[in-house]
Amino acid sequence: MKYRAYIFDLDETLAESKQPISERMGGALALLLAQGPVAVISGGKLSIILANVANRLPEGTRMENLYILPTCGAALYQHRNDSWQSVYAELLSDIDVEVIERGILRAIEKTGVIDLNEPSHGERIERRGSQITLSALGQEAPLSEKVLWDPERTKRNMLMKALVDELPQFSIKMGGTTSFDITKPGIDKAYGVRKLSEHLSVPISDMVYVGDALFPGGNDAVVKETGIHTEAVTNPDETLTRIEAFLRT
Ligand SMILES: [Mg+2]
Repeated sequence: MKYRAYIFDLDETLAESKQPISERMGGALALLLAQGPVAVISGGKLSIILANVANRLPEGTRMENLYILPTCGAALYQHRNDSWQSVYAELLSDIDVEVIERGILRAIEKTGVIDLNEPSHGERIERRGSQITLSALGQEAPLSEKVLWDPERTKRNMLMKALVDELPQFSIKMGGTTSFDITKPGIDKAYGVRKLSEHLSVPISDMVYVGDALFPGGNDAVVKETGIHTEAVTNPDETLTRIEAFLRT
């Protein structure tokens, strides 16, 4: 095998945004998991990654080789004795949560790009343990509405600037088309890559990262600073092709 461990972004890499992986993807991942460690990293919370990836893998998959890094790498889980166990979790304290939520509300007020009186699709501000996520239209907003909300990125850029001003002590990342992920400082996908390398005792130079947003400013780009090999894809079909190539080498 060319690589000793594989890391995949989830949304638009293993599956369409917030959708479960396809049966073909499940089969391909199972073959890769039979060879060695495979990790999935996402801004999403653990339960979503389990529902959309882990629970979709075929019967007999070597789950002990699967590693899950939810909330942008703020936590790492492994499957042992039939359950998911935390390897580490950089949880936000109650005080952090309160400070962040107030900062978000001030940023919204300052920019005026979100009208809190408008009904939302599910919660706009969600606590995810190690991360707080702000979704302009709500957690469950349909993709068709989300892509129309800020096609020019102007609202997101305004909001980003206001959030950084209000919450300089935290790490703030633009998530998908409408969302922001806020964690403790220093937590990002690069942190997750380093922690996984340490935990597996596999040097980063023997690992590969596959993601759809490795371009400058994309939410996978930060991993490049670790020196990990990267494979850029634009959709799950391309990822399948890469996995097939990994299996051949
Ligand atoms: Mg992605």
